[in-house]
Amino acid sequence: MALSSIARGAAARIGLKPAPISVGFEITHLCNLECRYCDRHTPGPHEMTREQILDALGGLHALGMRHVSLDGGEPLAHRHIDEVAAFLAQRGVRIYMNTNGVLVPRKVATVRLLSKVKISLDGPPACHDAMRGEGSWQKAINGAIVARHAGVGVELTCVVGQHNESHIEELVEFADTHRFRIVFQPARNSLFLDNTRDGSGFQLEAAELRRVFARLRELKLAGSPSIANGWASLRHFLDFPQDVSLPCAAGWINATLDPEGNLFHCGQVDRNDLTHNVVRLGARRAFEGLVRKGCTQCWCARVVEENYAWGGRFHRMLPPRSVHAPPAPPSPSSRRLPVVA
Ligand code: SF4
Ligand code: SF4
Repeated sequence: MALSSIARGAAARIGLKPAPISVGFEITHLCNLECRYCDRHTPGPHEMTREQILDALGGLHALGMRHVSLDGGEPLAHRHIDEVAAFLAQRGVRIYMNTNGVLVPRKVATVRLLSKVKISLDGPPACHDAMRGEGSWQKAINGAIVARHAGVGVELTCVVGQHNESHIEELVEFADTHRFRIVFQPARNSLFLDNTRDGSGFQLEAAELRRVFARLRELKLAGSPSIANGWASLRHFLDFPQDVSLPCAAGWINATLDPEGNLFHCGQVDRNDLTHNVVRLGARRAFEGLVRKGCTQCWCARVVEENYAWGGRFHRMLPPRSVHAPPAPPSPSSRRLPVVA
């Protein structure tokens, strides 16, 4: 988290005046892939028009928005993504994007406006393609390389579950070799939490999940340069999914906007309350009306890390003092991974 964000966040806390400094904007739920564990690849019936999007973002900017994380669905598949990114960049907003990477080569002019592109990667090619479709690993990596050559920061995101648990070390070795950074976080049952879909078959048992994160912690301690999780999220996931009370910045400096204009203090909790809609109420009323309530199941690695920073729990962010960290044994299968430019 940038120092300026921490300072603004601290000011918001002291003054007790919330501001949507960092907004996660799911611009569309349309996606060009249909990953097996995802329930977010069909556009909603009332997604905002171009004018409504620009009004909403303009209103949030006037309230203090300085960072936007464009999300989906697939944000690059939205028909107005070029204009939306340009609108934000012209206002000095730092733009991040979560993408599957497939459309990055076609949208490179827009990608150049981003501060960082975050590309999902499940594992080695066969593992990734089994979840996301034939050829999607190569397209994701091509997207990462094109973004890197365009001068944009690239971060890979890996959701850890039953589908890839046995491939995590291969993935780390691949990323170490090709100078990519990866953030790991646990698979959840449903992104929408609306009980219409059971994704528990993709989730790991608690003991398995903790074993994976313990190994990631060992690899990071042993000097793996690719593991981009901070110590706060690695520590947090060592206990996951046990209920843990942690500081929560949701609604104080963060907010999530869905494609239909519904604003939430946090997109990871209850989405049934559609009261705070920016199209109906305008950005100010929608944001001011949010209920700011934390939870005990914080799951997104970067959000976990921001929350510990927001709460001043700096000791959680420091490396562990005494963990035996043997060097990672070479993984024979990793030699089969393709070499990339
Ligand atoms: S690329 Fe992302 S949004 Fe699209 S189907 Fe896959 S997980 Fe869902
Ligand atoms: S603690 Fe809960 S409400 Fe707060 S950011 Fe994390 S998931 Fe969202």
